[in-house]
Amino acid sequence: MKIEIDEGKCVAAGHCVMVAAEVFDQRDEDGVVVLLDPAPPEHLHEQVREAALLCPANAILSGGRDSAS
Ligand code: SF4
Repeated sequence: MKIEIDEGKCVAAGHCVMVAAEVFDQRDEDGVVVLLDPAPPEHLHEQVREAALLCPANAILSGGRDSAS
């Protein structure tokens, strides 16, 4: 799984950090998402998918979801 984030879309809601704190963090100054691990290990994939689903800005693209497009 490879993850990409679109910082421009991120509205700093923080859902991704709550669901997958090993993969996502937020910048101190504005709360915009920081990608800690662009290729997380398999045991984190479910959390990453959950984070992508929860993200209100659709700013998280994971290989498992968008690889066909
Ligand atoms: S859930 Fe989406 S909008 Fe919220 S901090 Fe994470 S990437 Fe940004």
